[in-house]
Amino acid sequence: MKRLTREEKFMKAAIRAAKRGLRQGEVPIGAVVVYEEKVVASGYNRRAKLQLASAHAEMMAIDRACKKFRSWRLPEGCELYVTLEPCPMCMGASLNARVDKLYFGAYEQKGRSLTEELAAANLLNHKTEVTGGVLKEECSSLLTDFFVEMRKKTKEEKERKKEENTDE
Ligand SMILES: [Zn+2]
Repeated sequence: MKRLTREEKFMKAAIRAAKRGLRQGEVPIGAVVVYEEKVVASGYNRRAKLQLASAHAEMMAIDRACKKFRSWRLPEGCELYVTLEPCPMCMGASLNARVDKLYFGAYEQKGRSLTEELAAANLLNHKTEVTGGVLKEECSSLLTDFFVEMRKKTKEEKERKKEENTDE
């Protein structure tokens, strides 16, 4: 088996977090914060459960890391790993928390993430170095499998209802 790079190893931890969300019926997106070669916080998307627009995996992981360090400013050298390209809110939170490096897996298909623009804008006088495509296939199949499954369920539900109606 091919040895994983350190980035892939930490992305695997983010994938495990995403799967925790998946088991709870959430869109599977996971994130971890890494400091001194250790995962110090993790999070997964909990939007459905909490019914909060801000309950993204990255926000959960960053909040936990801030609590751990008792500081909104994360220590120098903190990295964030997330299975999907971050949205503008989460990219903003990374900059606010002074994340130094951000690695994401799957690319956002709809091109609405503004990741490059935000990373280069030097907002808050801080730059976060961004690398995309770490374990890209594994991260994106996690999502596509989820949506295929969801569509299948919706279709079955529709057919079930149709059958019920024809019975009458
Ligand atoms: Zn987000």
